Amino acid sequence: MGRGVRSQARLAADEDKMRAIQAVTERFRSRGVDLVHIRFPNDELPLAGCDAGKLIYVFADGATAVCPYLVFAARTPQSRYPDSDFLVGNILTGEVAPALDAYDLAGTLAMGANPTCAACSLNDSCGKGCPAAVISRGLPIGAVDTEQCPKAEGYGRPLLQIGRRSR
Ligand code: SF4
Repeated sequence: MGRGVRSQARLAADEDKMRAIQAVTERFRSRGVDLVHIRFPNDELPLAGCDAGKLIYVFADGATAVCPYLVFAARTPQSRYPDSDFLVGNILTGEVAPALDAYDLAGTLAMGANPTCAACSLNDSCGKGCPAAVISRGLPIGAVDTEQCPKAEGYGRPLLQIGRRSR
Protein backbone atom coordinates (compact mmCIF):
# COMPACT_ATOMS: atom_id res chain seq x y z
CA MET A 1 0.00 0.00 0.00
CA GLY A 2 1.06 3.60 -0.44
CA ARG A 3 4.76 3.75 -1.22
CA GLY A 4 4.88 -0.06 -1.21
CA VAL A 5 2.92 -0.19 -4.43
CA ARG A 6 6.12 0.60 -6.33
CA SER A 7 8.18 -2.20 -4.82
CA GLN A 8 5.58 -4.92 -4.47
CA ALA A 9 6.35 -6.58 -7.81
CA ARG A 10 10.01 -6.96 -6.83
CA LEU A 11 9.67 -7.70 -3.13
CA ALA A 12 6.42 -9.59 -2.54
CA ALA A 13 6.67 -13.28 -1.64
CA ASP A 14 4.33 -15.62 -3.50
CA GLU A 15 1.65 -17.65 -1.74
CA ASP A 16 3.82 -20.76 -1.33
CA LYS A 17 6.58 -18.75 0.29
CA MET A 18 4.12 -17.00 2.60
CA ARG A 19 2.68 -20.34 3.70
CA ALA A 20 6.21 -21.65 4.30
CA ILE A 21 7.08 -18.58 6.38
CA GLN A 22 3.91 -19.06 8.38
CA ALA A 23 4.70 -22.72 9.05
CA VAL A 24 8.28 -21.99 10.09
CA THR A 25 7.41 -19.08 12.36
CA GLU A 26 4.49 -20.98 13.89
CA ARG A 27 7.01 -23.28 15.56
CA PHE A 28 8.03 -20.44 17.89
CA ARG A 29 4.58 -20.20 19.40
CA SER A 30 5.27 -23.15 21.71
CA ARG A 31 8.33 -21.25 22.98
CA GLY A 32 6.17 -18.38 24.17
CA VAL A 33 6.48 -16.05 21.19
CA ASP A 34 3.18 -14.25 20.59
CA LEU A 35 2.79 -14.50 16.82
CA VAL A 36 0.37 -12.51 14.70
CA HIS A 37 0.38 -13.41 11.00
CA ILE A 38 -1.12 -10.40 9.26
CA ARG A 39 -2.49 -10.83 5.71
CA PHE A 40 -0.95 -14.23 5.20
CA PRO A 41 -2.85 -16.65 2.89
CA ASN A 42 -6.06 -17.47 4.70
CA ASP A 43 -8.15 -20.63 4.87
CA GLU A 44 -10.24 -19.75 7.90
CA LEU A 45 -13.67 -18.17 8.12
CA PRO A 46 -15.27 -16.01 9.26
CA LEU A 47 -12.83 -13.19 8.67
CA ALA A 48 -11.78 -10.78 11.39
CA GLY A 49 -13.08 -7.24 11.26
CA CYS A 50 -11.57 -3.78 11.08
CA ASP A 51 -9.92 -2.22 14.13
CA ALA A 52 -9.85 1.36 12.85
CA GLY A 53 -10.50 3.76 15.68
CA LYS A 54 -9.03 1.34 18.21
CA LEU A 55 -5.52 1.56 16.73
CA ILE A 56 -5.15 5.26 16.15
CA TYR A 57 -1.87 6.39 14.66
CA VAL A 58 0.09 9.62 14.90
CA PHE A 59 2.47 10.44 12.05
CA ALA A 60 5.76 12.22 12.73
CA ASP A 61 4.22 15.54 11.66
CA GLY A 62 1.36 15.11 14.13
CA ALA A 63 -1.30 14.07 11.63
CA THR A 64 -3.56 11.60 13.40
CA ALA A 65 -5.29 8.74 11.64
CA VAL A 66 -8.07 6.36 12.63
CA CYS A 67 -5.78 3.67 11.17
CA PRO A 68 -2.39 4.06 9.44
CA TYR A 69 -3.17 1.42 6.82
CA LEU A 70 -6.23 3.31 5.63
CA VAL A 71 -4.03 6.36 5.03
CA PHE A 72 -1.35 4.31 3.28
CA ALA A 73 -4.03 2.65 1.13
CA ALA A 74 -5.63 5.98 0.26
CA ARG A 75 -2.22 7.15 -0.98
CA THR A 76 -2.04 4.23 -3.41
CA PRO A 77 -2.40 5.62 -6.96
CA GLN A 78 -5.65 3.79 -7.76
CA SER A 79 -7.41 4.67 -4.50
CA ARG A 80 -10.86 6.22 -4.83
CA TYR A 81 -10.47 7.98 -1.49
CA PRO A 82 -8.29 10.89 -0.30
CA ASP A 83 -6.12 10.23 2.74
CA SER A 84 -7.98 13.04 4.52
CA ASP A 85 -11.00 10.72 4.79
CA PHE A 86 -9.08 8.81 7.46
CA LEU A 87 -7.28 11.65 9.25
CA VAL A 88 -8.91 13.41 12.18
CA GLY A 89 -6.59 16.39 12.69
CA ASN A 90 -3.13 17.13 13.95
CA ILE A 91 -2.19 16.35 17.51
CA LEU A 92 0.59 18.99 17.48
CA THR A 93 -1.67 21.86 16.50
CA GLY A 94 -5.03 21.05 18.05
CA GLU A 95 -7.31 18.75 19.95
CA VAL A 96 -8.12 15.54 18.08
CA ALA A 97 -10.26 13.75 20.68
CA PRO A 98 -13.59 15.33 19.64
CA ALA A 99 -12.94 14.49 15.97
CA LEU A 100 -12.01 10.93 16.93
CA ASP A 101 -15.14 10.57 19.03
CA ALA A 102 -17.28 11.98 16.23
CA TYR A 103 -15.72 9.90 13.45
CA ASP A 104 -18.39 7.76 11.80
CA LEU A 105 -16.49 4.47 11.76
CA ALA A 106 -19.50 2.28 11.11
CA GLY A 107 -20.77 4.48 8.30
CA THR A 108 -17.43 5.24 6.66
CA LEU A 109 -15.93 1.76 6.82
CA ALA A 110 -18.99 -0.46 6.41
CA MET A 111 -17.79 -3.65 4.76
CA GLY A 112 -19.94 -6.33 3.15
CA ALA A 113 -22.05 -4.15 0.86
CA ASN A 114 -21.71 -6.52 -2.07
CA PRO A 115 -23.75 -9.42 -3.53
CA THR A 116 -21.21 -12.09 -2.48
CA CYS A 117 -21.38 -11.20 1.21
CA ALA A 118 -25.15 -10.61 1.06
CA ALA A 119 -25.63 -14.18 -0.14
CA CYS A 120 -23.08 -15.72 2.23
CA SER A 121 -24.19 -17.88 5.17
CA LEU A 122 -21.52 -16.21 7.32
CA ASN A 123 -22.68 -12.67 6.59
CA ASP A 124 -23.93 -11.98 10.12
CA SER A 125 -20.87 -13.34 11.92
CA CYS A 126 -18.10 -12.27 9.54
CA GLY A 127 -15.90 -9.18 10.08
CA LYS A 128 -15.32 -9.07 6.30
CA GLY A 129 -11.64 -8.29 6.37
CA CYS A 130 -9.75 -5.08 5.80
CA PRO A 131 -11.17 -1.96 4.11
CA ALA A 132 -7.63 -0.66 3.60
CA ALA A 133 -6.82 -3.68 1.43
CA VAL A 134 -9.94 -3.05 -0.61
CA ILE A 135 -9.09 0.64 -1.03
CA SER A 136 -5.55 -0.20 -2.10
CA ARG A 137 -6.94 -2.26 -4.99
CA GLY A 138 -8.94 0.71 -6.22
CA LEU A 139 -12.27 -0.73 -5.08
CA PRO A 140 -15.02 0.93 -3.04
CA ILE A 141 -15.24 0.24 0.67
CA GLY A 142 -17.74 -2.59 0.97
CA ALA A 143 -16.25 -4.74 -1.79
CA VAL A 144 -15.12 -8.25 -0.86
CA ASP A 145 -11.62 -8.55 0.60
CA THR A 146 -10.75 -11.15 -2.02
CA GLU A 147 -7.22 -11.68 -0.81
CA GLN A 148 -8.50 -13.04 2.50
CA CYS A 149 -11.90 -14.58 1.74
CA PRO A 150 -11.70 -18.10 0.26
CA LYS A 151 -15.35 -17.81 -0.83
CA ALA A 152 -14.71 -14.86 -3.08
CA GLU A 153 -14.08 -14.91 -6.78
CA GLY A 154 -10.46 -13.93 -7.35
CA TYR A 155 -9.44 -15.19 -3.91
CA GLY A 156 -5.71 -15.08 -3.29
CA ARG A 157 -4.84 -12.68 -6.02
CA PRO A 158 -2.06 -10.21 -5.22
CA LEU A 159 -3.00 -7.53 -2.74
CA LEU A 160 -1.95 -4.62 -4.90
CA GLN A 161 -2.41 -3.76 -8.51
CA ILE A 162 0.78 -2.24 -9.75
CA GLY A 163 0.43 1.10 -11.44
CA ARG A 164 2.42 4.24 -11.97
CA ARG A 165 1.47 7.37 -10.15
CA SER A 166 0.44 9.99 -12.69
CA ARG A 167 2.26 13.26 -12.35
S1 SF4 B 1 -18.23 -13.77 1.40
FE1 SF4 B 1 -18.25 -11.96 2.76
S2 SF4 B 1 -19.45 -12.61 4.57
FE2 SF4 B 1 -18.85 -14.50 3.47
S3 SF4 B 1 -16.93 -15.16 4.44
FE3 SF4 B 1 -16.35 -13.89 2.67
S4 SF4 B 1 -16.12 -11.80 3.49
FE4 SF4 B 1 -17.26 -13.01 5.03
